[in-house]
Amino acid sequence: MANPLVPASLLIFMAASSSLAEAPRGIPRELARQRAAQISDVRYRLAFALSPKAATTAGEEELRFKLKTLQPVLLDFRDGRLLSASVNDADLDLKQENGHLELPGDKLRTGENTVRISFFVPIAAAGKPLTRFEDQDDQDDHSEYVYSLFVPMDASMAFPCFDQPDLKGRFTLELTAPDDWTIVSNAAVASATAARGGQRRTRFAETLPISTYLFAFAAGPFRQLPASAGLPALYVRKSKFERAQAEATEVRQIAARGMQYLSSFFAQPFPFPKYDMVLIPGLAYGGMEHAGATFLREESVLFRTAPTHSDLLNRDILVLHELTHQWFGNLVTMRWFDDLWLKEGFAQYMAYQALATLQPDENVWKRFYESIKPEAYAIDSTKGTTPIYQEIPNLEDAKSAYGAIVYSKAPGVLKQLAFVLGAEHFQRGLQLYLKEHAYGNAEWNDLVHAFERVSGKPLDHWAEMWIRHRGMPQVGVSWSCAGGRLSELSVSQHDVLGSADVWPLAMQIGLNYANRDQVLVRADLNGKALEVAGAKDAECPNFVFANEEDNAYGRFLLDSRSREAVIAQIGGIRDPLRRTLLWGSLWDSVRNTELAPGDYLALPVRLLPGEEDETLARSLLSHSTTALHRYVSPARRNEYVPRFEALAEDRMLHSAKLDLRIVWFRALEATAETPQGLARLKEILNGRLAVPGVELRPLDRWNLVTALVAHGDPEGAATLGAEKQRDASGDGQKYAYVAEAARPEAGTKQRYFKDFLQNASRPEDWVEQSLYAFNYWNESGLTAPYLKEALEALPQIKHERKIFFLEDWLTAFIDGQQSGAAQAEVYAYLKSGEIDPDLRLKILQAVDELDRTVAIRRKFPN
Ligand SMILES: [Zn+2]
Repeated sequence: MANPLVPASLLIFMAASSSLAEAPRGIPRELARQRAAQISDVRYRLAFALSPKAATTAGEEELRFKLKTLQPVLLDFRDGRLLSASVNDADLDLKQENGHLELPGDKLRTGENTVRISFFVPIAAAGKPLTRFEDQDDQDDHSEYVYSLFVPMDASMAFPCFDQPDLKGRFTLELTAPDDWTIVSNAAVASATAARGGQRRTRFAETLPISTYLFAFAAGPFRQLPASAGLPALYVRKSKFERAQAEATEVRQIAARGMQYLSSFFAQPFPFPKYDMVLIPGLAYGGMEHAGATFLREESVLFRTAPTHSDLLNRDILVLHELTHQWFGNLVTMRWFDDLWLKEGFAQYMAYQALATLQPDENVWKRFYESIKPEAYAIDSTKGTTPIYQEIPNLEDAKSAYGAIVYSKAPGVLKQLAFVLGAEHFQRGLQLYLKEHAYGNAEWNDLVHAFERVSGKPLDHWAEMWIRHRGMPQVGVSWSCAGGRLSELSVSQHDVLGSADVWPLAMQIGLNYANRDQVLVRADLNGKALEVAGAKDAECPNFVFANEEDNAYGRFLLDSRSREAVIAQIGGIRDPLRRTLLWGSLWDSVRNTELAPGDYLALPVRLLPGEEDETLARSLLSHSTTALHRYVSPARRNEYVPRFEALAEDRMLHSAKLDLRIVWFRALEATAETPQGLARLKEILNGRLAVPGVELRPLDRWNLVTALVAHGDPEGAATLGAEKQRDASGDGQKYAYVAEAARPEAGTKQRYFKDFLQNASRPEDWVEQSLYAFNYWNESGLTAPYLKEALEALPQIKHERKIFFLEDWLTAFIDGQQSGAAQAEVYAYLKSGEIDPDLRLKILQAVDELDRTVAIRRKFPN
């Protein structure tokens, strides 16, 4: 992978290192290294004053640190305005330059230094690390909430600091705010005293050493759910208190049980003095693991649509993911964001591991395959994929490291590692790593060495290929029988992107029979191909699948003889994980242009009515919808849509299980497009048709409205108007904005596109949730004119928006298209000039689905 050698700004910084003529942009890796070597014992005392409606907050800071050798020191401060500063009690006129403040060498000392700074920083509805949320649902007074969100490098937009993960500091926070506000931060409240003008000053105890991105506070009229022994505290805005009392209790229970389990699994007690969870409406992420004070997106806990069992388990996974970070990320932190996967990969993997132990009946590893693997494989087979370890030359680029590679591939690869090492060595390696680096920082090879030490297995080659190399293997099987016995079985691999790379792979090959139990044969494929000796002379199987139990990471396609057998028999395969893996393999064959999408669709139409497994039904319906909307010809779609509509309506009304009725209801919403289908949606909205046992929630209704608007239903506009009247809540206003974005009309698209890029007061989650509606699958003609502009806006988006927004933006605009012309436009843009290298990779990742769509349509035009 190409990496810029040394950024120009860094050269200037290094050339002028004795007197910093020009400060570098962002935080170059070298600056971070140099500071980490020179600076230690960092302590921040921070005071902010929060007043309702104010566009800024006044901040006072006392920063203490030790300096090893006398030299100028750069502090990071990227936003806001300086009022005054002193270094070791000498007043100074500090200047902000390229997001830094230079503390001059002649005012510093070796050993302890004290810096005092007064400043103002902004608070806004979007685009700033201090976000204001106004609660439209609060009957009394439209209450206001303010919260911080700094990851990966926005602490330096809120106060001057050393904004790098390996300069951990001890924070003491003091907040002055209206006296009816509740304030949550990393540490416990130490004191609260009355201040002038109905304000109150809240002081928090000093934290343990934490990275700047993990420091946080949330303030506003939050209410805490009633305290209960052994359960972590949970805070919610006051207008949702009653709902939270009814619906959020399980969140505290799963966190408490998870805490117990993880403390024992890691052989490390919970690393911080307390653990709170705060529900934040419209939070940019599902959750953020601030040390001792996790923020969760309110919508991930208080569901806006009628939830299924699976939705509840996904919520538990989220809670356990953020909880795991308290050890993996907060207690031991990656040294730099190039090792982001260390915290995200493990949090994700351990969340499933914990849930599998706490809820042994839930088939959690099947869920892991369904939720984790497809996203990982989808990115990892594109030309824009990256290694798990990603060079980050400047912290400015850290946002680009977030995505399916760290959230999905890394846990998938860890599952393979746990299989290779065995459960006990895997656990002992983790324990050793956490013990040796507690409250400090570490790198991926520290972890690999810990695994090597406990297992005695050399892992350097394994890590080189899985952590440092990009891409993934495609594994093929070939077998033949003679006289009713297997005469030959071999597996082989090649890089899906065509390089000569070969990965070390360990897998369980399943020999499957019609009338007897499956036989598993272990294979360790370390070269290009392997003859599996253990299988020779076994009874001739019906079909062979090379990744039973889902231990290995790669694309596992069925050979043609096995594929035919699977297509004929898949409905009768009782083991849910096996059935799911085989369905996954068939879908891979569609995306790989081996199986015609029309032939594939015949299978779910035949088998879905009998599918009782909620998550499998859900993923089959999602694949079917993709095939209908993207892959098949219009004639095929016209043939299949009425069948799906009829099936969805029938199952929505008559499935025995409530969860399945909800899944089918959502499928009807997604696939209805004929007048009859749309009529059903309207009947559900106006109450003439009910999904038995399901009480529609506001977002269920809004999703129906959005579908009607997008399909240009004659009653769409009236329905939207009626829903606005019916639901004028804060959420309702957001969802109305989303629904309107789907209107198939050029003026609307023009107005929205401008709003997305130019309206700074539009909350980010409103825009993010509208992207899909704006680019509704059937509106590619209307949205095609915006494709190029959407690509051209990427640098602005990378700069201004929170982590996941850019990927959502790109995916929505590119997936909104299905044609070769749109594909050509994306590639023309890639050739058009200087494009930031990591934006280029993101575009190559996103265009892969369009490439596949065009290839599938070309190969299977009918
Ligand atoms: Zn995470």
